Amino acid sequence: MWVVLILFCYSRGLMNMSAGMLYGIILMLMAGNAIFYLVLRSGYNKRLKDPSLTMPQMVMGALFAVVVIFHAEAVRGVMLLIFLVVFTFGVFRLHVRQFLHLTVLVLASYGGSIIYLTHFHPGRINTEQEILSWVVLASILIWFSFIGGYINRLRSDGMRFNAELTQAMATIADLAIHDELTQVYNRRHVFTILQREKSLADRGMASFAVCMLDLDHFKQVNDTYGHMAGDAVLKTTAQAIQKNIRAADYLARYGGEEFILVLTYPDVEDGLKCAERICRFCAEQRFAGLPDAFRITISGGVTAYRPSESVDDLVKRADEALYYAKGNGRNRIEYL
Ligand code: GH3
Ligand code: MG
Ligand code: MG
Repeated sequence: MWVVLILFCYSRGLMNMSAGMLYGIILMLMAGNAIFYLVLRSGYNKRLKDPSLTMPQMVMGALFAVVVIFHAEAVRGVMLLIFLVVFTFGVFRLHVRQFLHLTVLVLASYGGSIIYLTHFHPGRINTEQEILSWVVLASILIWFSFIGGYINRLRSDGMRFNAELTQAMATIADLAIHDELTQVYNRRHVFTILQREKSLADRGMASFAVCMLDLDHFKQVNDTYGHMAGDAVLKTTAQAIQKNIRAADYLARYGGEEFILVLTYPDVEDGLKCAERICRFCAEQRFAGLPDAFRITISGGVTAYRPSESVDDLVKRADEALYYAKGNGRNRIEYL
C-alpha cells in the first residue's frame, strides 16, 4: 500500500527526494517486511516474549512513515494518516502504556523532522502549519492510545471469559454424567451408554452384558455406623468395582446402594467371570474408619443383551437375576 502511495506521490512531484533515495526506502520497506515474514514463518517468533511481534512491526512502520513524511513536501499533512494504520495494528495487542510509548516515538521523530527542516531547509517547510499538524497528530494519537488500549483490554477479557466459559461447560458436562458421591457414571448416563451399545449390537457388532450389583444388608451399615460411614463404604466399593473392570466397560451408580455394569465382552461368559471376580474382591475389601473385621458383600445379577430387545427389558432381567442372587443367600452372582 505504501509503496504504491510513495510511487504515486513521487511521480506527481510531491516527494522531495532523489530516485536513489526513493528506491532505497522502498527496498528497505520490503526487506523489513520480508524479515518479519521469515521470522513468523520459521516459527522463531514463538521463542520470543510476544510472538506476534506487534511492537517491533509497529515501530518499523512508524519509523518508515516518519521518513516518508519527512520527504513528502506538499502532502505531509495527509500522509500523517499513515500513523492511524500503524496504530490500528496494535489494537489486538498493545496496552495503553505501550501505545503511549509509540506515541512519544512518533511525536519525537515528527517533531525532530520539523525542527531539522526549519533549521536547515526553511524553504521546504511551513513551520507554523507543521506545528499545528503536530498538535493535531499528538491529540489524535494520545486519544487513540487510550481507546486502542481499552479495545485490547475488552478483547483479552472476552478471550479469558470464553476460556472460562469453555471450562465451565466442560465441568457442567462432567457433572451431568457422574454421580456426585462415588464419581462413577450416574443412572441417566448409563441409559445413554446402554442405548449406544444396543444400537451397536443391533448393527451386528459384538453383543454386551449387563450386571446389576447391590450391597448386601447395607441398611445395617447405616444403622450401626451412621450415614457418613455408609457413604464411605459406597465410595470405596465403587472404587473397588472400577478397579476390576476394563477400560471398555462402564460402571454407574444405579440407585442408593445399587450399581450397574455394562460389560462389553464379546463372550458373555467373560462378563460373568468379571462379575464374580468383583463379588469376591469386594467381600475382602477393608474400609478406613470401620472396624478391621468389617466386611461388606455384594450380590449381582448378570444378563446378556438379546437382539432387538429394549434397554428397559434388559435392565429388568438383570434386576430379576439380582433378586435370585439375594434369594439364594447373597454374596453371589446369578445369571439369567
Ligand atoms: P439387601 O441385602 O436386601 O440389599 O439389604 P439392604 O439393607 O442393602 O437393602 P435395603 O434396600 O433395605 O436398604 C438399602 C439402604 O441403603 C437403605 C438406605 O438408607 C441406604 N442408602 C441408600 N442410598 C444411600 C446413600 O447414598 N448413602 C448411604 N449412607 N446410604 C444409602
Ligand atoms: Mg442392598
Ligand atoms: Mg438396594
